[in-house]
Amino acid sequence: MEQRIDYVPPPDSGVRNLSGSSAPERLSELEQDVKALISALALLGVKRCARCRQFFRSSEPGALFENGEIVCYECIPDWWASRSPTLGIVEREKIEGKLSSWLRRYHRAEVVKEIPENTRGTAAFQIVTTCGECRGAGKLLEGERCRFCSGNGTVWIVVPR
Ligand SMILES: [Zn+2]
Ligand SMILES: [Zn+2]
Repeated sequence: MEQRIDYVPPPDSGVRNLSGSSAPERLSELEQDVKALISALALLGVKRCARCRQFFRSSEPGALFENGEIVCYECIPDWWASRSPTLGIVEREKIEGKLSSWLRRYHRAEVVKEIPENTRGTAAFQIVTTCGECRGAGKLLEGERCRFCSGNGTVWIVVPR
């Protein structure tokens, strides 16, 4: 059976409203619409990367790193480079911890003291973070040199390609 649907905008539809309202009003209406759409998409499990503005299925493992901000995997290195200097120590350590376990869980990342010569240039990316064991002190409580970071206070998270 053939079914035809003729679209007739109702008298008070957005179509007429749009043409009847001023440009700034239209803009804010559009903004409202976009916001509503984004929340609707979030309900469906589709979320947007705060940096590249692309949409991703949040159920896809490892696609999005969420922690207040939502960042896609591709944007992680840039995002972290610009975000980490703006964070306080406590906040940064918290996010570093999450980021590190997220990268290890979904992207085969490894935490290393130093970047081995042979992996240089072959990694998808590598980021330096505070050593979670000594919390950046390089020493353990007993004054012993931290063996997780060799006393550097920092470790590298290396994500292979
Ligand atoms: Zn992105
Ligand atoms: Zn350490």
